[in-house]
Amino acid sequence: MPDGTPPLPNRTLKTPQALHAAGLLPAEALPGAEVVARRYSISVTPAVAALIDPADPADPIARQYIPDPAELVTAPHELADPTADAPFTPVTGVVHRYPDRALLKPLLACPVYCRFCFRREAVGPDGGLLSEAELDAALAWFARTPAVREAILTGGDPLMLSPRRLGEILRRLAALPHLDLLRIHSRVPVAAPGLVTEALAAALETGKPLYLCVHANHAREFSPAAVEALGRLHRAGVVLLGQSVLLRGVNDSVDALEGLFRSMLRARVKPYYLHQLDPAPGTARFAVPVEEGRALLRALRGRVTGLAWPTYVQERPAGGGKVPLGPEYSPNEG
Ligand code: SF4
Repeated sequence: MPDGTPPLPNRTLKTPQALHAAGLLPAEALPGAEVVARRYSISVTPAVAALIDPADPADPIARQYIPDPAELVTAPHELADPTADAPFTPVTGVVHRYPDRALLKPLLACPVYCRFCFRREAVGPDGGLLSEAELDAALAWFARTPAVREAILTGGDPLMLSPRRLGEILRRLAALPHLDLLRIHSRVPVAAPGLVTEALAAALETGKPLYLCVHANHAREFSPAAVEALGRLHRAGVVLLGQSVLLRGVNDSVDALEGLFRSMLRARVKPYYLHQLDPAPGTARFAVPVEEGRALLRALRGRVTGLAWPTYVQERPAGGGKVPLGPEYSPNEG
């Protein structure tokens, strides 16, 4: 480490001052970051801080987590609830948009707060933990809705719950005969791999298939510790899928996407979805046009194994659900 470089932090950085002290935010950026922090949560775990190259002003890891004054500018097309969870919420903590599956959001806290998050108006360290009564009501909704075959735990990040708490929720869901499978969406394996303990892995074993969708957007997020955490989950019988967001300045090149998907496969994670950015407030700096996204995927075709190929998807407005974006091919294409 060069002289004058601050030591790597051993605790999570939650304020602009803490980011500055760790060498991840220059002094001139502090005032703007302070204003952003009044509106949106900040969290950079030690594992993520260790991945950032502070000497690189275009670092693709930093770009995902370090606040920027551009977040305070809401473009005309941006919406506070871009995926329209609210109209599809039958009881607190549940989102039922599709006939055969429903979301359960047991908490709204995350290990990190992504600057492009589609739920950025809702997530944060202080809110969203379902009370005992709310959780009972949410689980009762699953019990009386037999058309739902899959429970998808999201948030927030469900792996932020204690293994005991998460295990209890999973066991109660797994006991419902009409639920075929459980799914968890999480950033924890890459952003806070130390939380993936043997106790957590054991808590995920319920006797029903469990899919874990790991959210990662850059190859470097698959650190040795992250790969080890994912290996622990794999050994516990968890099926690992990858979901990513196409982000300007993070993974908007063929090389970056190839690196990301190959890193996933090396970590036993099957790339599942590549999401078009949802228009949450103040996220326009991350937007990549759909045509550019299609061209990137087209360029990847043939260059990487089909196993590395995710489905490129976009959420329709007003809660209309996901649609695949292609690219389309005809059998006669050269
Ligand atoms: S971890 Fe997921 S829910 Fe949490 S801030 Fe990032 S994108 Fe949003």
